[in-house]
Amino acid sequence: MGGTGGAAGALGDGAASGKKAADAVLVGGRVWVGPGAQTTALAVRDGAVVAHGPAAQAQAGRAAQVIDLEGGLVAPGFGDGHCHPVFGGLETQGPSIAGAGSVEQIAAAVRSYARDHPGERWIVGASYDPALRPDGAFDAAWLDEAVPDRPVLLRANDYHTVWANSAALAEAGVTAGTPDPPLGRIDRRPDGRPLGTLREWDACDLVLRAAPERSPVVLRRALAEACRRQNLVGVTWMQDAWVDAGGHRPYLELLERDALTVRSNLGLRADPARWRDQVAEFGLIRAEVEAAGRPDLLTCRTVKFFADGVIESGTGAMLEPYVGTTDRGMAVWRASDLSAAVTAFDAAGFQCHLHAIGDAAVRDALDAVGAAVRANPAWDRRPVIAHVQVVDPDDLGRFAALGVVANFESYWSQCDPLQNVLTSPRLGPARAALQYPAASLVRSGATISHGSDWPVSTNDPLEALRVAVTRLNDHGRPAGGWIPAERLTVEQALAAATAGAAFQGWTDSFRGTLDLGKQADLVIYDRDWLDLDPAGLRGLTPRATWLSGRPVP
Ligand SMILES: [Zn+2]
Repeated sequence: MGGTGGAAGALGDGAASGKKAADAVLVGGRVWVGPGAQTTALAVRDGAVVAHGPAAQAQAGRAAQVIDLEGGLVAPGFGDGHCHPVFGGLETQGPSIAGAGSVEQIAAAVRSYARDHPGERWIVGASYDPALRPDGAFDAAWLDEAVPDRPVLLRANDYHTVWANSAALAEAGVTAGTPDPPLGRIDRRPDGRPLGTLREWDACDLVLRAAPERSPVVLRRALAEACRRQNLVGVTWMQDAWVDAGGHRPYLELLERDALTVRSNLGLRADPARWRDQVAEFGLIRAEVEAAGRPDLLTCRTVKFFADGVIESGTGAMLEPYVGTTDRGMAVWRASDLSAAVTAFDAAGFQCHLHAIGDAAVRDALDAVGAAVRANPAWDRRPVIAHVQVVDPDDLGRFAALGVVANFESYWSQCDPLQNVLTSPRLGPARAALQYPAASLVRSGATISHGSDWPVSTNDPLEALRVAVTRLNDHGRPAGGWIPAERLTVEQALAAATAGAAFQGWTDSFRGTLDLGKQADLVIYDRDWLDLDPAGLRGLTPRATWLSGRPVP
C-alpha cells in the first residue's frame, strides 16, 4: 500500500497524458471498465488508470510491468455495501462451528475446543446454522453435555440469535423470573425456565454482557484477517454496518500500521433508547476518523438503524400478521421515533443506512427518509435501505423517488433450507413471492448495490452475483429460478457490486469503475466468465486483487 495519493481530489493531474512510463500494462484479455463499457487493455501509473485499449497497449514497451491476462478478465475491485468484518474475523477464533451440519457436530466441536483450551473461562463461538432445528430453538442441555462446568455462548449465523448453555445462563442471571426485555425474546420451557435460545438485541445482550470483553489486540487481528479475506475475493471497499462504541479503533490502528487493505466506511449503530445523545457522540467519532487524514481509505459517514429483526425468527416487522398468528413481528423503533432520529442524523450530515426486512419495516424506513427529505435542506444524502426482503408493491416506486439506494444481499435470494423451513411458512405464498425484488427496483430507476452481510453469508461477490442472476440454490433448484422475474442480468449484478456500491459509499469520484483517472482498484480472473452460463460460476477465485495499482493482501 502507500502511495495512494490521498483524497479523491488529488487524482486528476494529467492522468491520461501518458508522458511518464506506466507502472503496469494489462493486455491479452477483456477489461470490464464499468456498466456499458469494455476494453482490451489497461495502463496503470501512480496507482491510477491512465490508458485504455490501443493507447494502453502502446505503452507496454516502456512499462515497468506487463501482465498477460491470457484470455482472462479484469473488473473493478468489488464494493461490499453491508458486512461485519470484525465479526467475520472473530469467527476464526473459538470453536469452529460454522460448517456444522447437526447439533451433534456443533456439540462435538465445542467439546474438543473446551478440552484444548482449559484456561478459557468462557467459550464463545460463531456461527451456527439456526435452520438445523425447527423454529431455530436450541436447548442449553445439548451444550451442557459437551461442557457442563463453564459458560458456552454461541452466535447463530443470523447474528440476531444466541445459544447459551446452563452455566452461561446462570452467570448472566437469566432465570424463569427474567421477563422478556422490550427488544428481545427468551425461548422458554413449558415451566417458564429459559430454554437456551435468546433472540434479538436486548435478549442476546443479557448473556453477551456477562462474557468477558475481547481485547484490542484480538479485535485488531480479527479486522486484519477480515481485510485479507475480503481481498482474496476481490473486495476493495466495504461498509461496516454495525459499529458500536470503540469499534472504530481497530480501523484506526490498522490504518496507522498501513495495513488497512480494504477501504472502509463505518456505520455507527443508533440506539432507540439514547439516539439523542448519540448525535453529538457520533460527530466526535467521525471527527476522530477524519483527523487520521485518509478519506480514501477510512471514513465514518454513516449511521446504522435496525428497523426490525429477521423473518426466520419471526421478528421481521410485517404489515399483516405471520401465518396462523396475530403477531406482526418486532419493529425496533416506534415509527415516529425512527423518523425523528433519521431526520436528526441526516441534519448532522450522516448517511442513514437502515436494516429493513419485513414490509412494515421497509415502509417505516422509507417514511423516515421521506421525513428527513422534507425537513432538512437538500444535500447529497444517498440514504440506504439494506436487505429489502419483503416490499409491499405500493412502496416499490418510493426508492427511486426518494433517492434511496437498495442494498441487496443477493446470496439470500435463493430457495435454501432457511427459506423453505423457516421463512416461507411464516409468510405464506403471496408474501413469499414478493421477496428480494431486485429487478423490479432496477426497472423503477432505483440504484441497487451489492452487500454480503458476511459472516451471515459468504463474502464472495461472485457467489452473490451467481444467485442474483439465476435465483438458483446451491443444488441448482428450482429450474428456471426462484421468483424468476426478479433475476438480474450479469451486467446489472456486476454494476451493483462495483459502480452501485461505489455510489453508496461516495467513492464513485475516484473508484468503482476503471474509467481513466480512477484508482486502479481492480480484480483479475484467469477466466473471462462474463459470457459463461452463470449457473456454472462456482469456485472461481481471483488471480489477484489490486488496491490503487498494488496487489493485496
Ligand atoms: Zn448486517
